Amino acid sequence: MKLIIHRGTNEIGGSCVEFSNGRKRVVFDVGLPLNAIDEDLDISCYKPNISGLFGEENGVAAVFISHAHPDHYGLLSLINKNIPVYMSKASAILLKKIAPLLGKENYADLSIKEISDGEEVRIDDFSVRAYEVDHSAATAMAFEISEENKRILYSGDIRFHGRRAWRSRKLMSNIASPDYLLLEGSTLGRENQEQLTEYDIEKRLTEFFAEPKLSLIVFSTQNIDRFVSVYKACVRQNKILVLDPYSCAILENLREISAHLPQFDWNNIRVYFAGNSITRKLAENGDLYRYKTAKVTFDEIMAKSENYVVKANFTIAEKLFEKLGADNMRLIYSLWSGYLDKPGFWHDLRNKLICIHTSGHAGIKDLQDFVKVVRPKHIIPIHTACKNKYADLFDADVVVLDDNEEAEL
Ligand SMILES: [Zn+2]
Repeated sequence: MKLIIHRGTNEIGGSCVEFSNGRKRVVFDVGLPLNAIDEDLDISCYKPNISGLFGEENGVAAVFISHAHPDHYGLLSLINKNIPVYMSKASAILLKKIAPLLGKENYADLSIKEISDGEEVRIDDFSVRAYEVDHSAATAMAFEISEENKRILYSGDIRFHGRRAWRSRKLMSNIASPDYLLLEGSTLGRENQEQLTEYDIEKRLTEFFAEPKLSLIVFSTQNIDRFVSVYKACVRQNKILVLDPYSCAILENLREISAHLPQFDWNNIRVYFAGNSITRKLAENGDLYRYKTAKVTFDEIMAKSENYVVKANFTIAEKLFEKLGADNMRLIYSLWSGYLDKPGFWHDLRNKLICIHTSGHAGIKDLQDFVKVVRPKHIIPIHTACKNKYADLFDADVVVLDDNEEAEL
C-alpha cells in the first residue's frame, strides 16, 4: 500500500492524505491551509495534485472527512460530486446546513454518507473503521485503515481533556499495535502552554460571571464543549446568555445528535438579532422567525447589563463599547490566541482581554500516553509544525515524510 501526505507533514492544517493499493485510492481530509481560511481567495489554487479527485474522471474511490473544521474539509466543495464522502452525522449537518450561512461554498450536491462510531466501510480491499474522538469540533473521528495485512490509524485531530475525553480513551483501548500511526502534533512547540480541561474552563468562567458586570465573550458556538461551558457558567451565576441567530441555527440543527444541547428557547438564553449577512440569510429561509420568542433588544440589555453574558459579534460589540465603554465590562477571549495576530477590532483591546481557553488538541503528555497504550510499530507525523521532535518524544520508530512524498507501507 502506498501513502502520500499531500499536505500536513510540515504544517498545522490543510491536511490531505491519500492511500493507494494500485487499484483503488482513498483520501482522508481535503483541508485548506490555516492561512487561507476566512480570506476572500479563490480556494482552487490550494488543490492538492490528486488525479481524479477534482476532475470529471472518477479516480478516487472515497473521501473520508475527520471533522468539520475547514483545515480538514475546506476544499470539499471542489471535488468530483460522484465520489462518496464519509463523515459523522454532526459533520454532515454542519457542512450542509451551517457552512452555507458563512460563505459561498456549496456542499448540498456532494454524495455525503454518514458514518458512526465503530462502523466499518469497505472500499475494494480497503476497510475503514471510524472512531469518535474528543476534539473542539462536534463528533470528530479517527480512522483505522486496513488493507491486506497492514493496519494504519489516522488520528485526525484528537485530545483527552474535553467533555468527550472518554471517546478518545475508548479508541485507545480498542486499537492494538497498528503498523503505522499518523499522529497529529499541533501542540508540539507550544510546550509551555497551560493544559486546562474543559471543566476548568467552566469553573473559571463561573468565577468571572460572579461579578456584577456585563461580560462580552468571544467563542465559537461550533465548539460545542465551549458553548456548554459558557452556558453552564451562566446558569450557575443566574446570568442570561445572549446569542446571535447564527449560534441558534447551529444549536437547532445539532439537536439531532443531542437532545440535551441547550436551545434558544431554554431559560437563560436570549437572542440579539445582529444585523449581518448571516441574519439576513436566516430571515430569507424563514428560520429567524422562530427565534423571535427569545429576542432581546439592545436597550433591554442596557437596562440590566450586569445580568447578561453576551456572545461577541461585531455589531453588538461595537454598540456595547460605544454605550458602556470597554472598561465597564468583562472582555473574555475564549478562542485560540493565534487568531489575535490577525488585524481586527479585538487587536486594539488585546491588553484588556482575559483569555480563558483550552486547546482542541492533546498536550504532549497525553500524546505520549496514547502512544504507550496503542503501541504503533511506526509513527508518521502529521498536522504539526515540529515533525522532527517526534523521534525524541515518542517510544516508537518515527517515519518523517515530506509533503507529496510517496511512502511504501
Ligand atoms: Zn480540528
